[in-house]
Amino acid sequence: MAMFEKILIANRGEIALRVQRACREMGIKTVVVHSEADRDAKYVKLADESVCIGPAPSAQSYLNIPAIISAAEVTDSQAIHPGYGFLSENADFAERVESSGFVFIGPKAETIRLMGDKVCAKDAMKAAGVPCVPGSDGALNDDPKEISRIAKGIGYPVIIKASGGGGGRGMRVVHTEAALLNAVTMTRTEAGAAFGNPTVYMEKYLENPRHVEIQILADQYGNAVYLGERDCSMQRRHQKIIEEAPAPLIPARQIARIGERCADACRKIGYRGAGTFEFLYERGEFYFIEMNTRVQVEHPVTELITGIDIVQAQIRVAAGEKLGLKQRDIVFRGHAIECRINAEDPYTFVPFPGKISVYHPPGGPGIRVDSHIYQGYTVPSHYDSMVAKVIAYGDTRDQAIRRMRIALSEMGVEGIKTNIPLHQELMLDAHFIKGGSSIHYLEQKLAAQGKVKK
Ligand code: ADP
Repeated sequence: MAMFEKILIANRGEIALRVQRACREMGIKTVVVHSEADRDAKYVKLADESVCIGPAPSAQSYLNIPAIISAAEVTDSQAIHPGYGFLSENADFAERVESSGFVFIGPKAETIRLMGDKVCAKDAMKAAGVPCVPGSDGALNDDPKEISRIAKGIGYPVIIKASGGGGGRGMRVVHTEAALLNAVTMTRTEAGAAFGNPTVYMEKYLENPRHVEIQILADQYGNAVYLGERDCSMQRRHQKIIEEAPAPLIPARQIARIGERCADACRKIGYRGAGTFEFLYERGEFYFIEMNTRVQVEHPVTELITGIDIVQAQIRVAAGEKLGLKQRDIVFRGHAIECRINAEDPYTFVPFPGKISVYHPPGGPGIRVDSHIYQGYTVPSHYDSMVAKVIAYGDTRDQAIRRMRIALSEMGVEGIKTNIPLHQELMLDAHFIKGGSSIHYLEQKLAAQGKVKK
């Protein structure tokens, strides 16, 4: 199959620009769809064509499947890149794209569906030899005795999770047997209402894990490689704000072992495209929690240490090319750190959109800025608050941290609030500098400073 001539980008903001840059480098024309709120965005003007697909609310624009398919039809696009968020992990969308005669730049709809159901995903991973969090064998049934027995077997605390859950919702931690059955019932009811699927399952609750994930790339001919790991433990409200590669203090041998398992799982399930296996890492062990079947916000740190353009690889694989990479071709060099710059109060995390009156992006050796903002740009209030990603690369982690400190001090954004002060504080934080802190570290630190309530 020949390379695409024109790709429609079904997303907004920095990732729409990131995909557009990949396409332009490959000589592919781009169509950007946008809402009324994003009409004036610069990346919309940079695209070869743009189509307004509806008013500001996502439900009427970026989630509007018929409008996006029509935009692809009228512009004669051949493929659709979904970015992350919005429709990127919507199996029905992937199916509609393909049945309308376009290529979906991502895995097959059935793979997205399998991975979107966490009970099925976990079963598939167990079968493929990927280590999972100890827990119930599949979904919980209605028998109270059986549920108590499973919890006892696992050992408290346990966590009840919705099979159809996502975005950190649909989970409940249980510390005692007395609270167990009520928690199961409540999670079931909420899951039914929120995700249309009342299925729940149980896992051991890991109290102090790190979040470490493995990036993979696979083609439709059964070739798969892993591109190493990322540590995304610095989180607030279950959302990542700093990511880095490699993960500090984890032996390369252990990464190679888990990476190989993930690549092997991709071959077994017929995975195609880029994907991420998310793990909790505690006391030296990896525990699979979920797979993301799309490009991740934090993909640049992996690109910097491997020299591989993940978005271009997604496009090539979708066009039917062979991966052309063997595991031994992938060499990890240096260290990269990403800070997500959000339009929000740095300590309360309350979003703070508005007009950017002054903007000075950072630069210099080892600095990459992925952002769609500019001076005079108005950050709309309708979408995610992330406005930029600052990524620092160095030969060593220490050099990457030093470069990030310089970049953050150079970066000037006025007119809106941003979390740059929090990032500056973290780049000087002794625990961050040491590396390896848990997913609770940031919230505990802020609570101890009296800056946020836990
Ligand atoms: P979602 O799809 O909603 O992101 P995940 O399964 O990825 O759900 O879990 C989200 C977050 O919840 C994890 O990053 C972790 O902080 C916490 N979590 C999930 N499962 C466990 C567990 N077994 N033990 C401890 N924390 C967990």
